[in-house]
Amino acid sequence: MAETLELTAPNGTKYSQPTGLFINNEFVAATSGDTIETVNPYDESVIAKVHAASEKDVDAAVAAARAAFKTGSEWRNLTPQERGVLLWKLGDLCKRDEQILATIDAWDNGKPYEVVLGEDVAETISVFRYYAGWADKIYGQTIDVGNAKLAYTKHEPLGVCGQIIPWNFPVMMAAWKLGPALACGNTVVLKSAEQTPLSALYLAGLIKEAGFPPGVVNVVSGYGKTAGAVLASHPKVDKIAFTGSTVTGRNIMKSAAVNMKNITLETGGKSPLLVFEDADMDQAVKWSHVGIMAMAGQVCTSTSRIYVQDSVYEKFLEEFKKYTKDNTTIGSQFDSNVTHGPQISKTQQEKIMSYVDSAKSEGARLVLGGEVSHKQGYFVDPTIFADVRNDMKAVREEVFGPFVVVQSFSSEDEVIEKANDTEYGLGAAVFTKDIVRGHRVAGEIQAGMVWINSSQDSHFGIPFGGYKQSGIGRELGQYALSAYTQVKAVHVNLGTWL
Ligand code: NAD
Repeated sequence: MAETLELTAPNGTKYSQPTGLFINNEFVAATSGDTIETVNPYDESVIAKVHAASEKDVDAAVAAARAAFKTGSEWRNLTPQERGVLLWKLGDLCKRDEQILATIDAWDNGKPYEVVLGEDVAETISVFRYYAGWADKIYGQTIDVGNAKLAYTKHEPLGVCGQIIPWNFPVMMAAWKLGPALACGNTVVLKSAEQTPLSALYLAGLIKEAGFPPGVVNVVSGYGKTAGAVLASHPKVDKIAFTGSTVTGRNIMKSAAVNMKNITLETGGKSPLLVFEDADMDQAVKWSHVGIMAMAGQVCTSTSRIYVQDSVYEKFLEEFKKYTKDNTTIGSQFDSNVTHGPQISKTQQEKIMSYVDSAKSEGARLVLGGEVSHKQGYFVDPTIFADVRNDMKAVREEVFGPFVVVQSFSSEDEVIEKANDTEYGLGAAVFTKDIVRGHRVAGEIQAGMVWINSSQDSHFGIPFGGYKQSGIGRELGQYALSAYTQVKAVHVNLGTWL
């Protein structure tokens, strides 16, 4: 049996942290004895060591999920409403322990505690409750094909779902994946990100407490190249759902081809934000800031490319710089004055700084930041580059940090072309007071989500996902149900004369 650590977080919260792999409703040691050390990105101190799954451990988790999915199992015999009740209970338990969950993710990820509590954990609770409501509202259709036949469809679960999540919203990403999968009656093996394994393990304890039968949800900590790759290519896994980088998404597609798994991918972005000259400048500036600096820019939908109409370009830059300076306090995730936490890791910090060098060498104008003023931990100062071109590396590639590139445009046609000149298509923001233009541009932009006079809106009832290389399929809302069900058509012969 794997151990549970009694931890005290820097904010004084004391709690029990499971460290084992969660298989069949038990926390067990990894067979290989491998571990992952997880650190506080604010000061690089070690928080805990957790067990890291090997191929054998992933096999055991998949076998547990397969057994739980078998016809006649406790899980398969639950009514849809009973599944909903379990999900609702899970939401209630997350609410009961919201401060612990927020503490864990703030500590492990580095983003401000109040943000994790008010956004990530609040959303986690809402997502479980939302999908609790869907569990008994998943219907097929009856289709009139004439009097001699009866034809109807059933929306059946896919089976065992492998779910691979990233480190930027640890517990919330687990909820986005688990909620619809469980509402639809699937079983799951969830692999957390190696940088942030703690909240998924704590959540696993709540899943057991809520009363989910053994094997319905299995949670493995592990590295991508080992545990993740094994899960993605596992012949007994029916579906793989992934959030993370586009490069890994492509690898997962290849691995999933082994047994032609159903896939949902939510990958990278380089989302544009367009400011037309008639925009409310205060709003455009505020949302431009939120759109890239929130969570230190570690959001797949961050609006990381800004296009401003030339008549208001310099004014925008001046105000954007001032707003960012006035609204940034760098420091510890547990200091309530802090708005800007560290990046997740040294690798990410170095990657962002390499884009600073590249933008400078390609001739972009540095307006703000571009430095690491906070020497301890993995910080990067909010960074704004102006006068960029679409052919620059820093404009084409996802940086995943507090790093934004700004350029001017003169006409609507020109900015739509520039905004769409990317391999990504996740989000896009449009600032204008002209309601007709707002909707027209929203229609022209190749992205899964468009915000008019805002940035980063997301809601558990609204589909989330990307066009082009930003992903395949949709999470959240009713749309996510089709990512976790398959349609069976049944034909009944009613007439003996045919
Ligand atoms: P990643 O895509 O490598 O990791 C995301 C998840 O995939 C993790 O759980 C990881 O263990 C797993 N994984 C990695 N390789 C795998 C493989 N071959 N098979 C199966 N699973 C695998 O992302 P990262 O290395 O943590 O971050 C790199 C870049 O990814 C970032 O700079 C950022 O651009 C992007 N990113 C995007 C998101 C997003 O929400 N879209 C989230 C995290 C990172």
